[in-house]
Amino acid sequence: MRHLPARDPRPQAEGPCILIARDLTPADSAALDLAEIAAFCTSAGGATSHAVQVAYSLGIPTVVAAGDGVLSIPEGQMCALDGDTGTLHAGLEGSDLDAAIAYRDQDRAQACHLAAVGTTPVILTGTVMGASQVTEMRAAGAEGIGLFATELAFLGREQRLADEDEHYQAYRAIARAVGEAPVTLRTLDIGGDKEMPALGLPEEDNPFLGVRGLRLSLRRPDLFLPQLRAAYRAARDDGARLRLMFPMVTGVEEFTRAAQMAREVQAELGAPPLPLGVMVEVPACALAVDQFVQHVDFLSIGTNDLAQYLTATSRTNSALARDFDPLHVAVTRTVQTITAAAAGSVPVSACGGLAGDPVGAVVLASLGVTALAVAVPYLPEVRDALCRADASSLATIRDQALETGGSRLLRSLVTSLLDL
Ligand code: PEP
Ligand code: MG
Repeated sequence: MRHLPARDPRPQAEGPCILIARDLTPADSAALDLAEIAAFCTSAGGATSHAVQVAYSLGIPTVVAAGDGVLSIPEGQMCALDGDTGTLHAGLEGSDLDAAIAYRDQDRAQACHLAAVGTTPVILTGTVMGASQVTEMRAAGAEGIGLFATELAFLGREQRLADEDEHYQAYRAIARAVGEAPVTLRTLDIGGDKEMPALGLPEEDNPFLGVRGLRLSLRRPDLFLPQLRAAYRAARDDGARLRLMFPMVTGVEEFTRAAQMAREVQAELGAPPLPLGVMVEVPACALAVDQFVQHVDFLSIGTNDLAQYLTATSRTNSALARDFDPLHVAVTRTVQTITAAAAGSVPVSACGGLAGDPVGAVVLASLGVTALAVAVPYLPEVRDALCRADASSLATIRDQALETGGSRLLRSLVTSLLDL
């Protein structure tokens, strides 16, 4: 669309439509107009790609890695997309269409019935895209924001980077909307499949193993410092209860360098201190957590990347979409290693796709995670599943997760034990 001459009319859809494409970038998906797009389906891609994570945060049902056949579905055909089962039904009519509409309405009605009450074994926080999602997040009973991915608002910019003031306004808005509860700002996580054309970064052979997240921020103080300054200004001027979280951290020395920069900015601005933490998503960080706990205020396990890097399974390769298993026994054992090493010293939360999956959330709780950051549309379902879990079911789930793991087995165990 960016390359179409202005005089060309945009294709008009009658009402919300299902977008079918080969693949979307995270910036494409963040720019989707929810009034126009009811769902999307891509022939390529992976279920934990950032394009899908963005859709997931916005509550857009998605099917990926559907194969090239979907690209020849004629435009305008009536289709139904079921994100739960990963199916796209094309050419629906008559009683099949009625059944699909009835199923959708029933699904929506069920979601509305899940009240934000009950006691969960872990703290529930939200993963939000912006201040506009805070009301819904609070209604779903989440205490504060566990993940605000600061790069998402600025992805896709071709001409100009976000300046300090834009960051400042964004952080103030979100902190004001949340009120008393803390907001965890994740500093820029550019790289991998998240591109910012305005940066003009060189192409990398293996971008997910490249200059991503904090690695980029440490190399580019011109990006990092305005963001740090904006956060400390919001804390000083507005009393915003912010926490700063660094992504893609590999070694302790990276954290201490970033923390040093943050403290210098804090002193220069006369701002209050902010809790500083890291995302545990690189296996090297996970296995060295005992070293990190001596320095950080909190940890958050990034389940998408931790699973990707531990199992050497790309998040974006459609040929591996069915192989990606965030509940692989290597992942569950690593989560347990992290929570055990941090127990009694720093809190460990989890974010990413697994935290927003009712089964995954229960498994993470069983492994000693103390808080979860969940995409707002999924908070009711996750809360409902967690409320059903007692100490004895959690112990059974934990034992199985550490012994054999695996999505298939754990999914059937958790759903039957908790009657999901
Ligand atoms: C993760 O890796 O689990 C995570 C939350 O970060 P992202 O998906 O943005 O890489
Ligand atoms: Mg990550």
